[in-house]
Amino acid sequence: KENQLTLSFSSLAENVGIARMLIASVGAQLDFPINDIEELKVAVSEAVSNAIIHGYHGRSGHVVLMELEIDDDALKITVSDEGCGIPDVVQAMQPAYSTDPERMGLGFVFMQSFMDELHVDSAVDKGTTVSMVK
Ligand code: ATP
Ligand code: MG
Repeated sequence: KENQLTLSFSSLAENVGIARMLIASVGAQLDFPINDIEELKVAVSEAVSNAIIHGYHGRSGHVVLMELEIDDDALKITVSDEGCGIPDVVQAMQPAYSTDPERMGLGFVFMQSFMDELHVDSAVDKGTTVSMVK
C-alpha cells in the first residue's frame, strides 16, 4: 500500500536532527536493516544540510521540504529548497567539489553511494530538488 509524508520545516540547523529522526522511524517501520537506516540518515542529513547551508546561505526564515513516498518496494525521498540554486549540477556532484573551501565536498558522494538513485534538479535563484530512492 502507498503512504506519503511531508515535513515542512524552517531553515534551522536543529531541524536536520528532526529530519534524520523521521527518516530513521520510517526506515524502521519498513523493516530496513540497521545499516540501511544509518545510510538513510546520512543521505537525508546531507541533503537537508545542503539546502540550509548552501541553498539559503545558512539564513533562517526559509522553508525546506522533505517529502516521502513509500510503496511496496521503494522509499522515495525528495528534499527541496527555494534557495540560490546550483549553476552547474554535474560539477557540484563531483567528489571533493565544494564552493566553500572549509568543506569536504562529499555530501553528494554520500547520497550517491548510500542511495540506489539520486537525481538533482536545480535552477539558479529558483531552488534545488534532490530526489533519492532506496
Ligand atoms: P560537505 O557536504 O562535504 O560538507 P559540500 O556541501 O560543499 O561539502 P556537497 O554536499 O557535495 O559538498 O555539495 C557540493 C556543492 O554543491 C556545494 O558546495 C554547493 O556549492 C552546491 N550545493 C549543494 N546543494 C545545494 C543546494 N541545495 N543549493 C545550492 N547549492 C548547493
Ligand atoms: Mg554538503
